Amino acid sequence: MREYNQYDVIIIGCGAAGMMAGITLAEKGKKVVILEKNDKPGKKLFITGKGRCNLTNNCDDEQLFANIVTNPKFMYSAISNFNSKDTIDLFQEFGLKLKTERGGRVFPASDHSSDVISVLTTKLKRLNVDILYNNEVCGVLVEEGDLCRCVKGIMVKENGKIFDVSCENVVVATGGLGYPLTGSTGDGIQWARELGLSVSEPKPALVPLEVSGINCEELMGLSLKNVEVSFQTTVKGKEKVVYKAFGEMLFTHFGVSGPVILSASSYLHKYDGEKTELFIDLKPALTEKQLDDRVVRDFAENINKQFRNALDSLLPRKLIPVIIERSNINPYKRVNEVTRQEREQLITCIKKFNLTVTGYRGFDEAIITQGGLNVKELNPRSMEVKSIKGLRYIGEVVDCDALTGGYNLQLAWSMARLLK
Ligand SMILES: Cc1cc2nc3c(=O)[nH]c(=O)nc-3n(C[C@H](O)[C@H](O)[C@H](O)COP(=O)(O)OP(=O)(O)OC[C@H]3O[C@@H](n4cnc5c(N)ncnc54)[C@H](O)[C@@H]3O)c2cc1C
Repeated sequence: MREYNQYDVIIIGCGAAGMMAGITLAEKGKKVVILEKNDKPGKKLFITGKGRCNLTNNCDDEQLFANIVTNPKFMYSAISNFNSKDTIDLFQEFGLKLKTERGGRVFPASDHSSDVISVLTTKLKRLNVDILYNNEVCGVLVEEGDLCRCVKGIMVKENGKIFDVSCENVVVATGGLGYPLTGSTGDGIQWARELGLSVSEPKPALVPLEVSGINCEELMGLSLKNVEVSFQTTVKGKEKVVYKAFGEMLFTHFGVSGPVILSASSYLHKYDGEKTELFIDLKPALTEKQLDDRVVRDFAENINKQFRNALDSLLPRKLIPVIIERSNINPYKRVNEVTRQEREQLITCIKKFNLTVTGYRGFDEAIITQGGLNVKELNPRSMEVKSIKGLRYIGEVVDCDALTGGYNLQLAWSMARLLK
């Protein structure tokens, strides 16, 4: 059996938060061990940013907070202690060359996420932090004291056997539930439940949406740039736009995806159970009047054509039959016979292309997990569980999440840098 007595702190999970926690604590003189169930570090980190790792956003704190979707206030201490600029400085100190791209997204200059993992593991090695791979932790042991509860240790599975390890300082950095093949299977969330701590129900977020109202196979693969999406749902019996954004989206075999859809998914869980409609404005730069003028011009140029052949310059090819069907205009009608009222129908179809949201894709496709250990359970200045001395939770396992753009990794770094 392995000897653990030499360690001051056990960190569970060698992902973004766990590695940064190891560095932070070792720099403060602690003897640290990281236990990881995979056979290598940072499996999720490796696939971030499409393999390039968007490790933070080069923005001020105001923008950083604006991009945190769940519990931004909880992050005040962590971010005032370690913000995006600090992340950039620290990784440069580690010897990683960085570059900033569109929207402030920061990547390694090499475009390789493996370089981010490599500088972290090199630093951990220099600081004599041990990393034990193929070590799955299966629970946190807590002692019931007279006045409060304290961490006693953890349960580890090694070579198929489970044994107890004693330690008074444990950091849970096991991640959420998204992309479970990377090792993030929600273990820390389950332990929190077992310890009687409050957990916000984990839900897939930054995730594609399933919709009805179109034949997905027909539109599959169609990518739309510069569209405006609005999600409308019923709040207290009234129709309300609950999310609106401009950007890029695409149609898939099950529904919709792409940047604006992923972001929207993070704001929609509040309205689960209500009917949510997605309206796509396919021509957001034009008012209805301007769009009508444009259609009139197009029709004038195609005076002898049938309606079905007169939309080529206005819409992507795949969308034309769908819009024609929705407009209820006879496709074989000559354009000069299309009435003003019919044109109005056409304009509505283009400016308010509507679909019904029927669900979210699962955790397998979720970039992050919304939910996790309830932040009320944590001291925001130390990440310690208020009711269990010596137990700390950091990273995505905590109920705090942000939009895409490097913000989620920033949350992991900031929480980890708070540790003492
Ligand atoms: C496809 C994809 C792309 C992304 N791209 C970006 C991006 O470019 N920028 C960005 O900011 N964010 C991105 N994210 C989100 C980001 O990766 C996560 O928010 C971040 O990795 C969370 O870090 P973490 O350390 O809390 O958890 P994780 O990185 O999930 O690490 C948790 C670790 O704990 C280990 N573990 C779990 N349970 C146990 C156990 N019982 N015993 C031992 N070890 C255990 C796991 O194996 C894993 O290694 C992306 C996510 C995905 C899925």
